[in-house]
Amino acid sequence: MAVKAKVAELPAEQWTVPGAVMTLASGEIRLRGGKCRGCGAEVFPKPKVCLACWSEEIEDDPLPATGKLYAFTVVHVARKGWRTPYVIAYVDLDNGVRVSAPLACDPNAPPPYDARVRLKVGEIGRTEDGRPIMSHQFESA
Ligand SMILES: [Zn+2]
Repeated sequence: MAVKAKVAELPAEQWTVPGAVMTLASGEIRLRGGKCRGCGAEVFPKPKVCLACWSEEIEDDPLPATGKLYAFTVVHVARKGWRTPYVIAYVDLDNGVRVSAPLACDPNAPPPYDARVRLKVGEIGRTEDGRPIMSHQFESA
C-alpha cells in the first residue's frame, strides 16, 4: 500500500523582514511601520509593544518611501546566500523615522551622505535551495 506523504510547500521566496513591505491601493510600495495610538511614536519594523510607552495599541503606519542617506558601510561577510559585497545603510525617512536596509548601488561608488533615496524591493541573494531572498532596499532618488 502506497503512503502518500504530505510535503509542506516552501514559500516561493524568503524575505529579510517578513511583512515589512506593504502595497497601497495606488500600487505604491511602502515600509510597514508601526504608530503607537498611546504616544504617537513611529518605528520600523512595526513592534508588538511601543518601546516608548509600553502600549500594545500599535497600528499599521505606511512610512514615507523617500528619505536621505544617514550612514552606511560595505558588508563583505554576510549571511549564507546573500550576495557580497553589499552596502547596508541607515536612512532617515522624510518623517524622521530611521530605518536600516540594503542600499542598491555599486559598493565601490556609494552615494554621498545625505543623498536622496527611495524605497524599492529586490533580490539580495538565493537560499540554499535556490529561492530568491527578497528585501526592502533603497536606491538613489
Ligand atoms: Zn507609545
